Amino acid sequence: MRNVVIIGSGCAGNTAAIYTGRANLKPLVVQGHEAGGQLSITSEVENFPGFPEGVLGPVLVENMKKQAERFGAEYLHGAVLEADLSQYPFRIRVEDEWIETRTLIIASGASARWVGLPNEQKLIGRGVSSCATCDGFFYRGKKIMVIGGGDSAMEEANFLTRFGSEVALVHRRDTFRASKIMLDRARANPKIKFITNTVVEDVLDVGKGVVTAVKLRNVVTNHTWEQEVDGFFVAIGHIPNTAVFRGQILTDADGYILSQGGARTNIPGVFHAGDVQDRNYRQAITAAGAGCMAAIEAERFLEAEGH
Ligand SMILES: Cc1cc2nc3c(=O)[nH]c(=O)nc-3n(C[C@H](O)[C@H](O)[C@H](O)COP(=O)(O)OP(=O)(O)OC[C@H]3O[C@@H](n4cnc5c(N)ncnc54)[C@H](O)[C@@H]3O)c2cc1C
Repeated sequence: MRNVVIIGSGCAGNTAAIYTGRANLKPLVVQGHEAGGQLSITSEVENFPGFPEGVLGPVLVENMKKQAERFGAEYLHGAVLEADLSQYPFRIRVEDEWIETRTLIIASGASARWVGLPNEQKLIGRGVSSCATCDGFFYRGKKIMVIGGGDSAMEEANFLTRFGSEVALVHRRDTFRASKIMLDRARANPKIKFITNTVVEDVLDVGKGVVTAVKLRNVVTNHTWEQEVDGFFVAIGHIPNTAVFRGQILTDADGYILSQGGARTNIPGVFHAGDVQDRNYRQAITAAGAGCMAAIEAERFLEAEGH
């Protein structure tokens, strides 16, 4: 029987592990298929406080893990494949093993939706990004392309005009899901050029190890061409990793956990932390803060239960 099981080893899960470890609760962290979370696939992180020269994303999360291990946190390979939150203590299945726990911190994140281009994954952190707030600063005076037609694509495109010499917004249709106000704002921005009825076929150049151009195709005329870009921002949404809890925990229509205040979910003893609940900020520092909150809630819950 565990006091605390933490699902996810990104900024949120690792921070929850540091706090619950230092509270002597011997947390168990289930790492999931992406050990270290989203930061493990990026390069330079320049906005996490405490690193005036910046820090590599994988180094930052590895250091968090080491810090948690120093206080007794245990890390388990594998993913949670099933969960039973209907009875107390809670039960989760990691690969073939069922684990019982008095509290559960869900820090399973939200994965960026990618376009699915042949070379997209190979160039993440080398010009391909899913986060303008995180990476816009690297593209000062450069050519930027944003993919998407919803509010987040408009918001990212607008934000990126602070940095880029030009921002091309590529959308596969000529109508947009974005709200009128967001679309109007983007259309009124002289730095944003709309390229509609167009799909991206691939991003180049893996040989050079950096984004240099994209291959585009107009779906009406079938005309294809290559366009030079330095930054390729995909803004077509995120998928919260909550499938294993479906029907057991309150989420919104997209699957993000609905907070019941603080880090609380609708199930006492089950807490949320990080991007799995947060569709607004999605930053390493906010996820770390949320991990701290969930840990403190778990400690208080266990205290009240007499553990
Ligand atoms: C390319 C890129 C660059 C970024 N750059 C920055 C930046 O410069 N600055 C910044 O502040 N933010 C940046 N971000 C955003 C930041 O990485 C996220 O906001 C942050 O990682 C969220 O932390 P999290 O712990 O909530 O989730 P995640 O980091 O997504 O971690 C989720 C964890 O849950 C695990 N998991 C998922 N499902 C299961 C399961 N069923 N069982 C067990 N484990 C599971 C995963 O394996 C993973 O370990 C970037 C994101 C990306 C994608």
